[in-house]
Parts: sequence; structure tokens; C-alpha cells
Amino acid sequence: MLKGKTALVTGSTSGIGLGIARALAAQGANIVVNGFGDAAAIAAIEKGLQALGTATMYHGADISRPSQIEDMVRAAESRFGRVDVLVNNAGIQHVAPIEDFPTERWDAVIAINLSSAFHTVRMALPKMKQANWGRIINIASVHGLVASVQKVAYVAAKHGIIGLTKVVALESATTGVTCNAICPGWVLTPMVQKQINARAARDNLDNDSARRALLGDKQPSLDFVTTEQIGAMAVFLCSPAADQIRGVAYNMDGGWYAQ
Ligand code: NAD
Repeated sequence: MLKGKTALVTGSTSGIGLGIARALAAQGANIVVNGFGDAAAIAAIEKGLQALGTATMYHGADISRPSQIEDMVRAAESRFGRVDVLVNNAGIQHVAPIEDFPTERWDAVIAINLSSAFHTVRMALPKMKQANWGRIINIASVHGLVASVQKVAYVAAKHGIIGLTKVVALESATTGVTCNAICPGWVLTPMVQKQINARAARDNLDNDSARRALLGDKQPSLDFVTTEQIGAMAVFLCSPAADQIRGVAYNMDGGWYAQ
């Protein structure tokens, strides 16, 4: 379905981004891999994607830096012509009550989880509009729809990216470019494992009990969303069936938001 198209997935060296990159590569898209990691691990990721029959390139832009984002988009365009599918996925978390929340962590979460998408979209959108086809998929969170304590920067950024999603969808509404957000609940990635470890240490639990406690607090299905499921949703949003899905924040959260 995506043969000849190019997908840039920020934060695709791990977790959800990697799952989406694999799902898009399986549909034939060339992949621009981004994110941190050691060179050998990144080379292995690229090799795995290439084994699905696609071309890849890696760009190590730190997406808290607009100039590095610009360099990444330009490098992708010079290698593949344009970015057809943009997945704004990279993100970080910091957990603390607002009175103790380090201002430097606030700035970093807002820059990486929100402002980066402003920069990637403003840079990639003109060529999508020129081609009259494009897909922008923002990985928000159920925390873009509801709040939790101790996550002020994350919740603010995720609510913000849903606003950005709606504006971009409206500004592209008469074109073949769509912009939507996916809002996962708990997905078992390194980002969430850190929170499980913190829970285990705080409540003196083993890993399995801490996982169950984390799910039990928020996610009625008591099961994690998988990176493969999110990848499949991204593929659907790239399909012709999704041509008129615009400005939507689609939750995949085991019932979290239904409560
Ligand atoms: P992860 O920690 O496994 O992966 C994060 C990726 O972002 C990595 O590739 C990392 O290198 C990259 N990254 C971080 N800072 C970066 C920077 N400054 N520049 C470039 N790349 C950077 O996390 P994940 O759980 O896969 O999260 C991916 C996205 O999904 C995030 O936006 C997160 O908020 C969102 N999300 C995750 C969950 C969950 O339960 N895991 C739930 C809802 C939303």
C-alpha cells in the first residue's frame, strides 16, 4: 500500500515508534529512522526494516532542537524526494508534583513532546500539499484527553498536540493531507518500564505485581496495548479508507478513557 512512499518516524529506535516503523515498512514505505541509541543497535534496526524490502536512512536529530529537525527533514527530502508520512512519536516523561517539577524538565518535555511536532509539520507539509497526498500521525496519549497527578508537563504537552492535530487537519482539509492523533493507554515500552520500576521500589513489589498495580489503577482491560496494534492503526490511517478521518484523537487504551 505504501510502496514508493517515505515515512519519517521520530523516536523510532524504541517502543511505539519502532512498532510503527515496522508496520509502515511492511507496507512498502521507505523509513527515516530517528531517535537515540548506540550505533550497533540502530544498524540492527535498519537491517530489520530493510529485510521487509524497503530502503532506510537514519538521522540522529535531537528533536528538542529546531535546527536539527530542519536538517533531518531536508536530509530525508534529499534522499527520498519528500516525506509522505510523518509520525511525530518521540517523547519523554517526568513524574513529580508541580511544586517540585524541575523547570528544565518542563522545558524538555514541552520541546520534545509538543514543539517538535510544530517544527516537523511546518517543514514537511508544503511538499505534502504540493503532492496532494500526505499523512501526519501524532502519537499523543490518553493523557491528551484526561489528566493524572504528577505529570503536569506531559499532560499539558499531550493536550497541546491534540490541539495542534486539529488545526493542521483544518488547514489541510481541502487537500489530500490528513492529520490525526493516536492516544494510547499503557504500552509496555522502556518509558513505562521505568514507571513500573518506580512503583515496585515505592511499594516494595516484584515486577509482575507492580505491572498489575499500574494497569489496575487506570486500564480496565488489565492488559497492555501493544506496539503492533498501534502500528496497525497507523497503517489504517494511511489507507484510502481513512481519507476523510481528519483531526481525530483516537484512543487505544483498554477502556481507560471510557471511565
Ligand atoms: P520509548 O522511551 O520506548 O521511546 C522513545 C523514543 O523517543 C526513543 O526512540 C528515544 O530515543 C526517542 N527520543 C527521546 N528523546 C528524543 C529527542 N530529544 N530527540 C530524538 N528522539 C528522542 O517510549 P515509548 O513508550 O515508545 O513512547 C513513544 C511515544 O508514545 C511518546 O510520545 C509517548 O509519550 C507516547 N505514549 C507512550 C505510552 C506508553 O504507555 N508507552 C502511552 C501513551 C503515549
